[in-house]
Amino acid sequence: MRHDELPEWSKRAADWAAEYHSTLRDRPVRSQAAPGDIARQIAKSPPDVADSMEAIFADFEHIIPPGMTHWQHPRFFAYFSSNAAPASMLAEQLVNAISAQCMLWQTSPAAAELETVMMDWLRQAVDLPPIFRGVIHDSATTATLCAVLTMRERALQWQGLTKGLAGHPTMRIYASAQTHCSVDKAARLAGIGQENLIKVDTDDDWAMRPDALQKAIQNDRAAGMLPIGIIGCIGGTSFGASDRLRAILSISRDENMYSHVDAAWAGSAMICPEYRHVWDGIELADSLVLNPHKWLGASFDCSVQFLREPASQVQTLSLRPDYLETLEEDEITNYSDWTIPLGRRFRALKLWFLLRAHGLDDLRNRIRNHIAWTKLACAALEITPGIEIVTPPKFALFTFRLAPQDRDANDSTQQLLQQINADGRIYLTQTSHQGMFVIRLTVGQFDTTWDDVELAIKVIREIAERVVKPN
Ligand SMILES: *Cc1c(COP(=O)(O)O)cnc(C)c1O
Repeated sequence: MRHDELPEWSKRAADWAAEYHSTLRDRPVRSQAAPGDIARQIAKSPPDVADSMEAIFADFEHIIPPGMTHWQHPRFFAYFSSNAAPASMLAEQLVNAISAQCMLWQTSPAAAELETVMMDWLRQAVDLPPIFRGVIHDSATTATLCAVLTMRERALQWQGLTKGLAGHPTMRIYASAQTHCSVDKAARLAGIGQENLIKVDTDDDWAMRPDALQKAIQNDRAAGMLPIGIIGCIGGTSFGASDRLRAILSISRDENMYSHVDAAWAGSAMICPEYRHVWDGIELADSLVLNPHKWLGASFDCSVQFLREPASQVQTLSLRPDYLETLEEDEITNYSDWTIPLGRRFRALKLWFLLRAHGLDDLRNRIRNHIAWTKLACAALEITPGIEIVTPPKFALFTFRLAPQDRDANDSTQQLLQQINADGRIYLTQTSHQGMFVIRLTVGQFDTTWDDVELAIKVIREIAERVVKPN
């Protein structure tokens, strides 16, 4: 394909996209493909001779959509949504047309400077103090790994980077049991060791207990270990649990430890002032992550890390051989110094398009609706025979199970979930709570309406009845 053929095919792609989005509600949310269904339809080896674009596009239309789970489907109530507002999709098309690699300021000043301004827009939108500066990563997993590496190197006075980790006391990190597995992964990859990530006891509301945290730190110090950091959680993945940040981040400061807060999902809700009490004390954090690619509407991938003092992370991650040296370092930001990969996508453009095309008020209204509809859905299921609410709504997430009188609840709930997802009108996923198999329901897709939520309630009731009374 030549560049002069691209406009025609781009129009075809845009028409296809319009048709796709307007028919999403008619498609099963979760792909109904069985393992191997898609691979079987694809040539085993690459062609030696060019295929026509007609043939390639036709195969795309025929083979790929049935093998996709439709994350932009308005009845996607699984995991956490990965929203993509149309304005953000459009920005990605433009980024794609330019296809720049934005590792340094000079490799695309617009990408670096727009990132600086967008990070400040977002900082204001969630009301963090002006001292915080942001950087865009691919994922919260990466941001958390960067924070844990910075924790480690700060504690070792940046000696670990060159001398390795031998000869130091055992380092310890503290988080609650509600923490996402990306924190475990960071502890593994940073050479801390998963067993040195201490999961501190939580209270009835699944918030880390400050007294238990203080005690764990004391015990570890007494045993000759080196406490280096605390990771707080706002809006945990299983039930939406949040730590009481002011208490635990104060301990972190008093103990001269580095702190990071994982607000990957719920962080977007902080554009609404009325939810900010949940992260009271956030200004005490050294680092935090929130994913605009989840709830806010910036298409995947776009994960934002805010840093109180970027110098610590830059000292940990920056490595600049001669061939990457640039001039005028005082006036510019080279964001690859803040992140793990050298190469960087131009991710700020979709935030700019998103925030301008919607304005914060519209984005706030969507989040408010999601939270209100989640409560209504929970109330409706609560009075449904056989259904038991296991964890109450936190932000826009609750969990429930099917517990019929004379049957095993875990079996019944598992059957319910399987049948719901085979039905295809809605998509839900599971987690576990105190040995119970439970279903999560989260309302968060950008285009979801109350009608979609009502249909979800209807589908759950209908299928629950079928599971309880077969035939
Ligand atoms: C989704 C999520 C993550 C992981 O995010 P990625 O960007 O996929 O790495 C981490 N923590 C929480 C609380 C999440 O909801």
